[in-house]
Amino acid sequence: MSEIKNKDYEEGMEGAEENQSEEEYSGSRILEFYEDGEDKKDKPDYSFELAILYKLKKIDEELADIEEEKGDLPEKIEDLTERINFYEKRIEENENNLELLKSEEKKLIKENKKIEERANKYDEQKYNVRTNKEYDDISKMIDECFEMLDKNEKRLKEIEGLKELLNKDIESDKEKLNEYIEERDECQSKLDDLNAQFEEEETELNKSRKAYLVKLDNETRSLYERINSSYKGEAIAIVRRGNCTGCYNSIPPQREIEIRMAESIFTCQSCGRILIDESHIKE
Ligand SMILES: [Zn+2]
Repeated sequence: MSEIKNKDYEEGMEGAEENQSEEEYSGSRILEFYEDGEDKKDKPDYSFELAILYKLKKIDEELADIEEEKGDLPEKIEDLTERINFYEKRIEENENNLELLKSEEKKLIKENKKIEERANKYDEQKYNVRTNKEYDDISKMIDECFEMLDKNEKRLKEIEGLKELLNKDIESDKEKLNEYIEERDECQSKLDDLNAQFEEEETELNKSRKAYLVKLDNETRSLYERINSSYKGEAIAIVRRGNCTGCYNSIPPQREIEIRMAESIFTCQSCGRILIDESHIKE
């Protein structure tokens, strides 16, 4: 005798609700597009996701703009500071050289005065000489004085020319220096402003970015993030007159219609951006 128990049948798994599998559409989309049929509700509709994605793109565009604006200024400031340092150094060197020339000039003028005095003295002595030899010696000394004066005068003229050149260089360098300083100060205050301003703005943008991201399913979210990481702020392209506005390649007419119907999330075959029909972004 054997007992057969069928208890298991009764305690069996509670009938899990069967997931309504999404209908698959294949090939007949164009026709469906023209139908205003009642089955429209059953079609997958990604227009909500696409709207979110477009909003995300707008946010990321702003974030990219901020990054770009900010990223450019420190570089510019650095470059200008280098130029400023160069001109400051050159001006300093030239000013030092100018000072050296000026003191040399002073020394020569002083020296010339002494030589002239000496020459005058010799000249007076010339009338009191007793011998021809004394006269010749004095004449020789006077000649030597004039030779020295001549040499010094030549150098003084040279110095005059050098001073002029240096002054010109210093003047034009100072002009450039002031331009660069002005430009750098402008950049610096711009950067300071941006830093202060963006701190708040960026926090706000990142906050709404997060809020939009959580509305997307994982797959769409990671797709977007992946594309956005290479096209900063430009992960979405609009389909306009049959072209992708991201890369300007044409989109096949059939695909264009599919994109307009938003039954799926399509990416551009050429550039990989997510494609949105113009009609989906008109708010
Ligand atoms: Zn494209």
